[in-house]
Amino acid sequence: ELLTVGGGRRVGVFVSKGGTGLLLQKLITASKESPPSEELMLQLHSLLAKVGPKDRKFGVKARLNGALNVTVNLLKQNLQNTKLLLPCLQVLRVYSTNSVNAISLGKNGVVELMFKIVGPYSKKNTSLVALDTLGALLKSKTNARRAVDRAHVPALLAVYQDWHRNDTRQRHMLIRKGLLACLRNITNIKLGRKAFIEADGMRILYNTSTECLPVRTLDPLVNTSSLIMRKCFPKNRLPLPTIKSAFRYQLPHVPAGGPVAQLYNQPPGVDDVVDESDDNEETEADTENDTENEEDDKDHRTNDDIETDLNKLRPKESQSRLFEELRVYDRFFVELSEDFQVRILMGFALNHTQATIPSYQQYLLLPVQSIMSAMSKEIICMSGPTNHPKVPKYLMRATRACKRFVHCISFIYLFHSVNTGGSDCGSEGPEEEGGEGAVLEVPDTALLLPLHDPDLYVEMVKGTRSVPHYSEVAYPDYFGHVAPTFREPLLERVYGVQRSKIFQDIERLIHPNDILDKVIYDLDIPSCPVIDDDGESLKFNSQFESGNLRKAVQVRKHEYDLVLNSDINSNHYHQWFYFEVSGMRVGTTYRFNIINCEKSNSQFNYGMQVLMYSVQEAISGRPRWVRTGTDICYYKNHFSRSSIAAGGQKGKSYYTMTFSTNFSHKDDVCYFAYHYPYTYSTLKMHLSKLEALRTPQIYLRQDVLCETLGGNSCPLLTITAMPESTSNDHICQFRNRPLIFLSARVHPGETNASWVMKGTLEFLMGTSPLASSLREAYIFKIVPMLNPDGVVNGNHRCSLSGEDLNRQWQSPNPELHPTIYHTKGLLQYLAHIQRTPLVFCDYHGHSRKKNVFMYGCSVKETVWQSNINATSCDLQEDLGYRTLPKILSQIAPAFNMASCSFVVERSKASTARVVVWREIGVQRSYTMESTLCGCDQGKYKGLQIGTRELEEMGAQFCVALLRLRRLTSPLGLRNHQHLLDVESDLMETRCKVASPTTYVMEEDEPSFLEEVDYSAESNEEDADADDHSTDVFDNPVHLDQLSDSETNHRD
Ligand SMILES: [Zn+2]
Repeated sequence: ELLTVGGGRRVGVFVSKGGTGLLLQKLITASKESPPSEELMLQLHSLLAKVGPKDRKFGVKARLNGALNVTVNLLKQNLQNTKLLLPCLQVLRVYSTNSVNAISLGKNGVVELMFKIVGPYSKKNTSLVALDTLGALLKSKTNARRAVDRAHVPALLAVYQDWHRNDTRQRHMLIRKGLLACLRNITNIKLGRKAFIEADGMRILYNTSTECLPVRTLDPLVNTSSLIMRKCFPKNRLPLPTIKSAFRYQLPHVPAGGPVAQLYNQPPGVDDVVDESDDNEETEADTENDTENEEDDKDHRTNDDIETDLNKLRPKESQSRLFEELRVYDRFFVELSEDFQVRILMGFALNHTQATIPSYQQYLLLPVQSIMSAMSKEIICMSGPTNHPKVPKYLMRATRACKRFVHCISFIYLFHSVNTGGSDCGSEGPEEEGGEGAVLEVPDTALLLPLHDPDLYVEMVKGTRSVPHYSEVAYPDYFGHVAPTFREPLLERVYGVQRSKIFQDIERLIHPNDILDKVIYDLDIPSCPVIDDDGESLKFNSQFESGNLRKAVQVRKHEYDLVLNSDINSNHYHQWFYFEVSGMRVGTTYRFNIINCEKSNSQFNYGMQVLMYSVQEAISGRPRWVRTGTDICYYKNHFSRSSIAAGGQKGKSYYTMTFSTNFSHKDDVCYFAYHYPYTYSTLKMHLSKLEALRTPQIYLRQDVLCETLGGNSCPLLTITAMPESTSNDHICQFRNRPLIFLSARVHPGETNASWVMKGTLEFLMGTSPLASSLREAYIFKIVPMLNPDGVVNGNHRCSLSGEDLNRQWQSPNPELHPTIYHTKGLLQYLAHIQRTPLVFCDYHGHSRKKNVFMYGCSVKETVWQSNINATSCDLQEDLGYRTLPKILSQIAPAFNMASCSFVVERSKASTARVVVWREIGVQRSYTMESTLCGCDQGKYKGLQIGTRELEEMGAQFCVALLRLRRLTSPLGLRNHQHLLDVESDLMETRCKVASPTTYVMEEDEPSFLEEVDYSAESNEEDADADDHSTDVFDNPVHLDQLSDSETNHRD
């Protein structure tokens, strides 16, 4: 009667009525008869095979009933009985999906049994079910080890090859896939990977995959093979002596326990490139939770970072500095002072040359004289021009370490001279004697780039101080950049690009003889980072302001591995790059791999291209950065990352960002960058040029806020309108204008922030009626570059203290974080004199999201996002913080309201935005994030972002401020409608926003186009093997890292 059970629904009912238990008991009873009835056993197993998959508790029930052994014994006795074999295997397959059963079955020899059944091509009838069972059993590490011990890895490989060869009509994909699944599970353990390598598994899977590639339907096989190969690929160490930055800066004092102390107080002999040993394979044990899914972690962390302590969301009466102390900032606010009228009159009398105030030009002369002369000697050569017709030859010159600039009307002459005694370039041959020069026509960009001046740029460079004492000027910074007029769409990803790149990487192992491994640039060689060569390799250089390239290794004829330098006084944080390439051939495709990327994903997988600048193009009248690169891909590679630089986590790998490109010109000098460079010297040049835009109506003052650790000046700008007259009324209006406080570039790698700032500054200095109204409405205080040292030295995120300056706002150290200390001082001063700014905004760049958006601070929205209970009186809050972003979303095409967030996170407690909001009391305190990639909405949808759009954003920010003024001024209050809109908008979005950090990421970064299994961490079992309390979330250091690098909220 049992046979009548059939059909999905009826099975379901059967299960829900406890039918499974009955069947299992029947099975036990039947097994006790001797001999058991074969017919009954067959029927019972056929039924169990139907019922099992429908019953989630089937595995547990079977174990508790003691049914496992019944089936196993039956199977062992009937291996030749094809009739009984299949239902038994089917039941076994269901048993095995339970991890405890898998261990128990393994002990009873079922792994061995399955290997007997799984066989070559001819045995196809039984092997699929057996394979599935085997695959499930091998998820247990004990079973995997058992399989390795019995030499099943080579056997499996041989069987796989047999199927691959014979299944020419591709009719048994599932079996082939099942075999690979077994291999995949075995290679989850270290022993398995070892056995796989010893059995020549890499070559076997590489060859079979290559043969499968042309048949698209075989992709699952190729993908699984690729996953296994990546996992088994022996981990390499980065080709570096240490991951500490190639440059070290001696701090005035090193706080104990700080990052620099940790970095340099490691015991001698510690190899920070790889971990000494993390072989804890022996301790690995099977656990009930045998999950291999690291994605699970994501759910736990979703809302972890939201501030739930209401006290930390309330305004904080900070332990602000005493007003007596803050009075030093008086001098930066002369326009607010009582005796301003007198000063202004003096200023008028002196014909607006800022004579009463230290001017920008004056402070440029401040640096120590000896350094000035030392640097200028390096840069400027006073020899006269020599006519030399061959531009190309000169261009070769340009790549050498010593360059000389000579200026002559619209030409610059570059010389290479060897007679400089103590030159860095001892390798130069005597044929260079006397110096050769060639005429180089500087593109006449005066019309296109009114605020760029190459001569002035070089002047500015002389005053810029870098830790490596750079003496060269990169051409793009010298010539300037004119935004191209053509559109630059997001790059469409080519199908299979990641796979093909990974296969090329695997070929390194399979065909080691093809690998050159030739070091051609190396900052760790003290005397000369450029290694001279026979002309068979490209030449690299990054010894200039904002440059970042530590090492270049030619791996194949046209392929280079590049290693980025860590931020100074740190051992990671690299992402920004800027380097020069020369010696290229036209018509050759070069592949570049940046092999020590740290983030787990990148916009390079979603349409972003690198930037390239060609000097040949520049001198042909097209000085510009253009988006370049094909076959761009970002993926986890086989270079292991030391736990020292990975927040204590072991077994992490670096990521590769790869791109390919062609060069259009022979003998060109080209530059590649992560994003449009904007150096500190560029800022100084730009600020100097802003002076030229001054009119009698504009009040512009440039002060030096402070000196940085590295000896660079941090500029502070004041922009507003001159009072209409010296009448009391006008002076009073002038003095009482609300303040707007802006800053940018605390993170040096976020160069887009500087371009947005450039747009803001130029708009503010403009002649449009809007600009005049804006100046009349506000006093602007602007710190355009909060981290000059980081910018100069090619850092990505930190200052010379090895710290992220945007995590120092709670208690900045005057010595170590002077720019933050004094910027905060200015704001504290303003708070003291009751002149808290109306708006504070810090400009940033975002590497993992598209569009431009803002982060603000709202108690209400923070509470909404968390589950804390708060009475409504806690939640009284003006919605004004929403107005500015709302206006921006209406007027700025790149701006996207949906990406904005107003939630206060714990990890952001010491950022400018949160501290200025909470301690200074600025309600409209923002981080404005601009994409490094492009837009996926609005007018620029589908396009990569360029400097034009970024500058436009900066201008539109100003326009929005003007609208904000109209809404917030007493007269403007009649416009209630807008605030109502804001309110309703707020209500709408309230439910949509899940978490500020995760929800946008998912929307913005769809899953990979190709299957990428990031659980292919080669020692994931090492993490699993340990007690689960070593979960990453118990590690605050790591949590902090996650908040930066994983969750995307990057202010
Ligand atoms: Zn940032």
